[in-house]
Amino acid sequence: MGDDAAVPLLVVGGGIAGITAALEASEAGTPAIVVERSTHLGGRVAQLARYFPKLCPPTCGLEINYQRLRSNPDVTVYTDSTVLGLAGSPGHYRATIERRPRYVNERCTTCGACSSTCPAERPNAFDYGMSRTKAAYLPHQAAFPMRYAIDAEACLFDECGRCVEVCQYGAIDLHEQPVSIEVEVAAVVLATGWDPYDASAISNLGFGSDPDIVTNVMFERMAADDGPTGGRILRPSNGSEVGSVAFVQCAGSRDRLHLPYCSSICCLASLKEAALLAEKIPTASASVFYIDLRTPGTYELFANRVLSLPNLQATKGKVAEIRRTASKDKLEVVADDMVLGQMTTTAVDLVVLATGMVAAKGGIQEGWADAFGFVEAEIDGSGVFAAGCATGPSDVATATLGATAAAMRAIGVARAEAVAR
Ligand SMILES: Cc1cc2nc3c(=O)[nH]c(=O)nc-3n(C[C@H](O)[C@H](O)[C@H](O)COP(=O)(O)OP(=O)(O)OC[C@H]3O[C@@H](n4cnc5c(N)ncnc54)[C@H](O)[C@@H]3O)c2cc1C
Repeated sequence: MGDDAAVPLLVVGGGIAGITAALEASEAGTPAIVVERSTHLGGRVAQLARYFPKLCPPTCGLEINYQRLRSNPDVTVYTDSTVLGLAGSPGHYRATIERRPRYVNERCTTCGACSSTCPAERPNAFDYGMSRTKAAYLPHQAAFPMRYAIDAEACLFDECGRCVEVCQYGAIDLHEQPVSIEVEVAAVVLATGWDPYDASAISNLGFGSDPDIVTNVMFERMAADDGPTGGRILRPSNGSEVGSVAFVQCAGSRDRLHLPYCSSICCLASLKEAALLAEKIPTASASVFYIDLRTPGTYELFANRVLSLPNLQATKGKVAEIRRTASKDKLEVVADDMVLGQMTTTAVDLVVLATGMVAAKGGIQEGWADAFGFVEAEIDGSGVFAAGCATGPSDVATATLGATAAAMRAIGVARAEAVAR
């Protein structure tokens, strides 16, 4: 239990880094307030099919943290919320939080009656637009909080109102208004994470012009059991099972026209995705096109295991173009093979672009951001710290380590304030 006199920390972003920072701080005696802009915690990790290197489902790791949150009265979570303002000084910040209407309150039992009766639909952002939900929707199967939400952009509101009629629990209020919440906090942890780079900006790789060219984050959803295809790897163009997949590394990364930096995890993510392909369709072939394979530390062991799969071929070469074959039934990946010193053409059913990670936009973290939107782990003397992919692209293990470090530093500011009182 937290010290009653302790001023809480504000954690902006409820992904794995933000959840970790809040739990570590509160379990060490300093309460935390987590502000998450989406309907649920977990961030991008909740959207992954499996984790490298062990290939376990990310929901396991997240659920352990949700259990810790459920039994912890010292972490307050605001989903559907953003921090509009922060004023004050270390030890004495005042934050203004805006909670947007979710239109579904805590009385929701997830019976699903609202969704069954709802006539309106929306593209499902959780599946990167590859599926649709009703306007009254459950964010995903393992969501925290496990509660429906209503999408204001899709809902017909008073023109319809069927969900209000069928909800036996009085859980829906279509007239809910935004709420402004003022909190006093001692220090701030920015854990606002990352977004995928916009693949449609890379014109030679054809994303957006052909349904069988997808991104790495889309492939994660395709391979996820709760994803749009129930975990089957199918060609979006015709729904048939894939026989061959090309993984194109550095799609826009290490490229001065797009992202001049390396996102550091894309090689591992693609190798993981190739391993999932081999597990699900043992006869399918995987062709990985890379500039350098970056698999640091003990991840090298994982990489070597995947690279030794019988149906996997790795080619050191930059992809110049992706186009339909003359017969139109497959895609052709044209690459500059650096070992052979010649252009090669590989025909496949599906292309997965390993797009990089960019800093999430549109939050108070932008006030401290560098040219790429990332924030230093410690902003000198400010009582403001950053963790996870808010500081730059990283794997989950690094994100959680950074989150624990940020929590400990922030606790230092909170405790110094408590002693001074
Ligand atoms: C294709 C791919 C596969 C990957 N696979 C793996 C893997 O197998 N193993 C592994 O270790 N790593 C993997 N990663 C990396 C992993 O996704 C990141 O390490 C992890 O998401 C970092 O967590 P985070 O909390 O820092 O950020 P995020 O997961 O992005 O969470 C940030 C949270 O902050 C919220 N937020 C953003 N802005 C605001 C705001 N202004 N106000 C309030 N809330 C806000 C977001 O909604 C989100 O919930 C993969 C990455 C990619 C691209």
